[in-house]
Amino acid sequence: MPEFIGITEPQPRTPRIEDQGLPAGSQQLSISGMHCAACVGRVEGALLGVAGVRAARVNLAVERAEVDFAHAVDTADLIAAVRAAGFDAHAAEQSRDADQANRERAVAALRSRFTIAAVLSLPVVVLGNFGMFAPLRDWLPMETQNVIMLLLAIPVQGWAGGQFLRGGWNGLRHRAPDMNLLIAVGTLAAFTYSTAATLWPAAFRRSGIEPHTYFDTAVVIITLILLGRLLEARARAGTTLAMRRLLDLEPRLAHRWVDGVVTDVALDRVMPGELLLVRPGEQVPVDGVIVEGTSSLDLSMLTGESMPVQAGPGDAVTGATLNQTGAFRMRAERVGKDTVLMQIVRLVERAQTSKANVQRLADRIAAVFVPVVFAIAAVACAAWFAFGPEPRLAHALLAGVSVLIIACPCALGLATPTALVAGTGRGAELGVLVRDAAALESAGNIRALVFDKTGTLTRGRPAVAAILALPGMEPNRVLALAAAAERHSEHPLAGAIVREAESRGLAIATPQDFSAEAGRGIVALVEGSAVLVGTPAFLAGQGIDAAPLEAQRVELEAQAHTVVGVAADGTLRGWIALRDTLKEGAREAVQALEAQSIEVWMITGDNARTAASLAAEAGIAPERVLAGVLPAGKAGRIGELQARGLRVAMVGDGLNDAPALAQADLGIAMGSGTDVAKEASDLTLVRSDLAAVPLALGLARRTLQVIRQNLFWAFVYNVIGIPIAAGALVLLLREGGPIGPLFGWRGELNPMFASLAMALSSVSVVTSSLRLRRYGRG
Ligand code: ADP
Ligand code: MG
Repeated sequence: MPEFIGITEPQPRTPRIEDQGLPAGSQQLSISGMHCAACVGRVEGALLGVAGVRAARVNLAVERAEVDFAHAVDTADLIAAVRAAGFDAHAAEQSRDADQANRERAVAALRSRFTIAAVLSLPVVVLGNFGMFAPLRDWLPMETQNVIMLLLAIPVQGWAGGQFLRGGWNGLRHRAPDMNLLIAVGTLAAFTYSTAATLWPAAFRRSGIEPHTYFDTAVVIITLILLGRLLEARARAGTTLAMRRLLDLEPRLAHRWVDGVVTDVALDRVMPGELLLVRPGEQVPVDGVIVEGTSSLDLSMLTGESMPVQAGPGDAVTGATLNQTGAFRMRAERVGKDTVLMQIVRLVERAQTSKANVQRLADRIAAVFVPVVFAIAAVACAAWFAFGPEPRLAHALLAGVSVLIIACPCALGLATPTALVAGTGRGAELGVLVRDAAALESAGNIRALVFDKTGTLTRGRPAVAAILALPGMEPNRVLALAAAAERHSEHPLAGAIVREAESRGLAIATPQDFSAEAGRGIVALVEGSAVLVGTPAFLAGQGIDAAPLEAQRVELEAQAHTVVGVAADGTLRGWIALRDTLKEGAREAVQALEAQSIEVWMITGDNARTAASLAAEAGIAPERVLAGVLPAGKAGRIGELQARGLRVAMVGDGLNDAPALAQADLGIAMGSGTDVAKEASDLTLVRSDLAAVPLALGLARRTLQVIRQNLFWAFVYNVIGIPIAAGALVLLLREGGPIGPLFGWRGELNPMFASLAMALSSVSVVTSSLRLRRYGRG
């Protein structure tokens, strides 16, 4: 509920997204062909290389890039740069549906490659493991078995696993080696050695090596990695589900009303200013204002708030919300990409391509990862060859292949973006919009939270509760004077005074001159006399004696009433006591926040007694009430809390609290207003119900926690997996070693298990992120 502060002192509005000092332009691209953190770095590098590009952020989970440029850049140039780096790209804006189709096609292609690889691998595995035993061996000589395995392995290596060869080659060509190269070199090593042993067994025997083949290793690795990618792609599609549900909300049709004639038009044909008819049970097509008719509207799809709201002529309605009971006519105001729905979509997309600080570390590691892994593989190979048991060449080969295969940075690359996408998507469903990953990080670290009183903690709809008239004055006369003076003020108190005067049927004069002093009161010229309405301090400052009826005033204030004085021609005429009520759920929200060990504060321009009384109702400790703070002073008080070393969040209505919201470590704008999505606060709550505040902070903390867990396990996996693959355990578990074989295991890792571990690690990271989709569902 935007609350008016003053005419003489216009309040700075929260900066809009458009004028946040954003670049001259930005463009979203959808990118395909990325598989790990190294690919992300390569695409970002390619985009930054285009002249005019200032920043590029690529998200692996949604396969999107957001590019900011200083001056206009041709989209075709961006796309060409991405393609040259070995990936595919297209402009994202017009292609959300195409994106979806592409992704489905990619999953289908992956599935058929996996199926064929699995079918061809099965006989290879049987021959590779049982071929040397009697009846099979007598029936099929080893040489023939090898030829059969070679023939089965060729399509698996060349076609099903062809993407690894191409990707690896691409990375090599651009001097940005990635995990494709690891897989390509690993499987090719096994495949080439085996092919040589198949074609020239005699040459092997002459140099004292049994011509054993490892085709099963190569094909099983490829099959398992394809399976991992298939599972990962399917799970990744799940993380973007919330986003897709949001996009599916957009209505397709509107009924245009021209002089009583109704025609159906496609949504993109609707122009601002046109009259539209909305029937019961239909979605509101675009944002606008009701001109005729009343109805109740279900806003839950946009706000997560379940209570329907009543709307009538003059009320704003938001596109995509559901009209329940009545039919009404509305005037379209915002259409196409200007609607609240599309603003929300853009905000969420932006948040999803932003980068969390924790991820930057992972990206830096990924960049040096592949060369380091090659070095480790080479060392392991050399060590096995120099010191290992016979057959040394085969042992060296298998250890090298295991290291290459197990060391996939995919889990590292997926850790943050999948959690970010699932977390922000779930947030959007709950009516919580996160600006970017940085906002999420600050939200997860909040230690103190300051609620603005009016309109945030309270309904912001005060009502006149009592009028104290001085001797010789009628209460109605006091009210009429005040109402006349307040007529042009948009302060909630003014609205309440005018409403009360109207309901009592009083004649309200028109003020000639009017000026407001933010957080204090107003001065107006009513029928020739100067009328003042405001706080006792404000009246006293204007040289008016505010002492009369002080005892009654103080008593009302102690009962949570806001009491304003009314003076005319230099003397006090009476007091008007107004009562605002706490929002439903205020107490529960404060409790939930305290349970998250967050200090809850209240800040207000209202007097200390009223503030303390309302704070007590809400369950806020009396020492955490900041009263009598002028709008301009709120930011300073937030600063004082920060100086105590607390990370502070401020919850306000986003309009007149802008400086305080900006000063806080986390600005939370709360509102039921229609242009809520535009507010440039860190978190925007699209619902006015206070339960959203603990929910939002809890979700942020949970998302951060999942990111940290993901990164931790991705690191642990590599730190443990690589030494095992290299053969470190053999030193301990070998026959006669310090520990000796464990259940017969001598510490050697079959490369096939390495590929299984790798596939599982990425799948487990994505699955762990998916848990966020259920947040708040109890
Ligand atoms: P809050 O911080 O609770 O949003 P404001 O800063 O808007 O409150 O106002 C602080 C106090 O200043 C109000 O409680 C009221 O006493 C006085 N005041 C401000 N504007 C007006 C007005 N238009 N008419 C009467 N009193 C006003
Ligand atoms: Mg306020």
